[in-house]
Amino acid sequence: RNEPGIRPRGVLGKLPRYAAGKPPVVVEGLESFKLSSNENPLPPLPAVLEAIAAETSINRYPDPLTTALRTELAAYLGVPPTDIVTGAGSLGALNQILATFAGQNDFDAPDEVVYAWRSFEAYPISVGLAGAAGVQVPVRADGRHDLEAMARAITDRTRVVLLCTPNNPTGPILTRDEVVGFLANVPAHVVVVIDEAYQEFVRDADAVDGIALYRDHPNVIVLRTFSKAHGLAGLRVGYSVAQQGLTEHLRVSAVPFAVSQVAEHAAVTSLRHIDEVEARVQSIVDERTRVVDGLRDLGWTIPEAQGNFVWLSLGEHTQDFAAKAGERALSVRAFGTEGVRVSIGEEAANSRFLELCGEYSHRPA
Ligand code: PMP
Repeated sequence: RNEPGIRPRGVLGKLPRYAAGKPPVVVEGLESFKLSSNENPLPPLPAVLEAIAAETSINRYPDPLTTALRTELAAYLGVPPTDIVTGAGSLGALNQILATFAGQNDFDAPDEVVYAWRSFEAYPISVGLAGAAGVQVPVRADGRHDLEAMARAITDRTRVVLLCTPNNPTGPILTRDEVVGFLANVPAHVVVVIDEAYQEFVRDADAVDGIALYRDHPNVIVLRTFSKAHGLAGLRVGYSVAQQGLTEHLRVSAVPFAVSQVAEHAAVTSLRHIDEVEARVQSIVDERTRVVDGLRDLGWTIPEAQGNFVWLSLGEHTQDFAAKAGERALSVRAFGTEGVRVSIGEEAANSRFLELCGEYSHRPA
């Protein structure tokens, strides 16, 4: 079937396949809910929909520098616009970081990228595609990064470390003190990416805030996204924040026009309605509190949940639990024999999920 002689790079055969969250299953008489992709369950803000509809010049290319969005973000974050690089989702921004700082080194051993595992599913794919070698450091039993082990995993070949806070899929944050202590153990030439895709949902006052920290750390890049709190996952807008010494390299490797003007305009509009966004985020956080308290009342042991999802460490019962959720028209994300990640969704979805947990006999203790 393949044309003779046409072969993909060997690394492609070794990459894990990204398993996107499954659409909700259809069960007669039950409304279906998708709790498998950590999406925002709320519909887009009316102002954002209007901004999208008003976009009339899509026959033109977008502004390659996303000036309007970087200006708006700079004011929101309190950073210079030159410290911001936008991308097609934070995944686009991450791929750009890896393409810039870690690779195959044709004549030497590949560069190494250290990250916690389990963490975001896309990391091994992005690292492998960049040509670098991933070094996975197991998370602790409570779902937290093992930063001591991660520091020990750094070698002469390490070029990038990925930290994920809150960690997808396990849920806990990294504290400011932990990250500052870790950075003191990292050589200055190693780039440390702090992936804060879920930052807006964090309510732990000790959690790291990369934006408050990167100005003292020339090797730190903070990753953020409009996909979660802003509910714009379908438009693909994310960004990196770092000192200019790093962003000037990122501008060289940028995919031209990665952010469409529709997406840029929607993101700008969302930032201009930040009060509404924050109120919605708070409603999701309130639901998270209800779900976490509900699970603990039922005798379930779960890690600290600071994103818009909870982690059920179900071991060998993982697939069974996911199947039972499916029977109730809930799609959740099952990871092998490790556990199930369930997004905080609509109130009715969360209640149905709690009901299922109340009846399920193999709860993690
Ligand atoms: N980082 C983490 C930790 C994530 O969970 C996700 C999405 N699930 C992303 C990055 C990528 O999000 P996006 O590309 O939509 O910004």
